[in-house]
Amino acid sequence: MVKNSFLKEKIDLKSPNKNITPVTTSIGSDGKLSIGGCSIEELVEKYDSPLYILDEITLRNSCRAYKKALQKYYPGESLPIYASKANSSVFMSNLISSEGLGLDAVSEGELLTALKGGVPNEKIVFHGNNKSDKEIEFAVRNNIKVIVDNDFDLDRLEKISNSFNHDLEIMIRFTPGIECHTHEYIRTGSFDSKFGFGIEYLNTLFTKISNTKHLKLKGLHAHIGSQIFELEPHKDLGEIMVNVIVEAQKFGHNIEELNVGGGLGIKYIESDDPPSIDEWVKTVSNSVVKACKKNNLDFPTLMCEPGRSIVSTAGITIYKIGAFKEIPGVRTYLSVDGGMSDNPRPITYQSNYSACLVSNPLNISSKNKYTIAGKHCESGDVLFKEIELADCKTGDLICVFGTGAYNNSMSSNYNRIPRPAALLVYDGEAEIIQMRESPLDLLKYDVLPDRFIKQN
Ligand SMILES: *Cc1c(COP(=O)(O)O)cnc(C)c1O
Repeated sequence: MVKNSFLKEKIDLKSPNKNITPVTTSIGSDGKLSIGGCSIEELVEKYDSPLYILDEITLRNSCRAYKKALQKYYPGESLPIYASKANSSVFMSNLISSEGLGLDAVSEGELLTALKGGVPNEKIVFHGNNKSDKEIEFAVRNNIKVIVDNDFDLDRLEKISNSFNHDLEIMIRFTPGIECHTHEYIRTGSFDSKFGFGIEYLNTLFTKISNTKHLKLKGLHAHIGSQIFELEPHKDLGEIMVNVIVEAQKFGHNIEELNVGGGLGIKYIESDDPPSIDEWVKTVSNSVVKACKKNNLDFPTLMCEPGRSIVSTAGITIYKIGAFKEIPGVRTYLSVDGGMSDNPRPITYQSNYSACLVSNPLNISSKNKYTIAGKHCESGDVLFKEIELADCKTGDLICVFGTGAYNNSMSSNYNRIPRPAALLVYDGEAEIIQMRESPLDLLKYDVLPDRFIKQN
């Protein structure tokens, strides 16, 4: 009996966010799971578990979908910018820039990772609601454009530009007051948000910027949330942002860049049905174009900042099954060798995923329902509540799909558990892009004061 029908669905090559699995997912003649032409079992034999795996073709297809759609639908200049918080590494930075995308960063660490990965400074933007002095100086020194989030940012940038005595281009972030149906924690575009200037404050802000000697208002940014399946909010956003450009003109500011943020959702489970990348870009582009024409405005450079929809579907996590605990009449717990340290999303957002057994991805041989628990000391460390799996036993491997975004980047060492290795797969070859941590690595920053050493 075939149960995991998501493994039988037709794969959308052009818009990976519409699939649960990476586009190269296949089931070999032995009935076992392979990604990027690599047998998952063989990868775990060689690299151990838990294991993060990224599929190169899925990643590149997602990048190209954004680039192509922007070129197709938007008559002005455009640039997709990868939101690196979704998955930040030297490898990701390198791949993104090889596809011609820009990158957004929110810390000195993410900025450094982008530069080391070869992203050109002029394609990087720097976000954050509480940037440190050191981070701002790092960005300015490296000619990276700062997105001003608040007056604190503005005052410091004004001082820096005055001390250098030359002009500094900035973008500003504002909250457009758009509600969207996503989890409350990741809703950022509404009035009650820690990010950005309130829309009602913008006229004051325009005057403030006009009164600086060297700050040049180059761009406008807004981001309304994440894992969004509706197109309407982004259609509204395009229009609202163009209206702000028109308003800014009255204060003498010529805004040339319009950055609509990210937020396009992906398919985690079978009932999810996000728009395609093409549809999303078309909606945003049409809305900006229409509003520009109405206001007789030159087309600004259109930027968007996808994170999840670039990297999530490309990523899977492999776990090994250990202990079983059956509570008769209640449930059966099956514990795996990772959990909330490598994927904190279920415990944080109650987020859902799809999974299968690596040795038997399709064939559900019985109606076993399991609760898949992590190995951490929290009762809430549960990756799946009640999932149907084929018959399985200790030592079998489980593949969780859609883990490319906000897993590795949000991972921790809770319970002093080392982070997994990460691999890139392409055309039957696997390469390491992140080494597995060891328990000893975790002691590297521990310090015992001298007098305690003497005592013992
Ligand atoms: C998180 C974030 C993004 C990316 O959001 P996704 O939902 O992953 O596409 C883009 N821009 C900003 C400012 C963000 O905070």
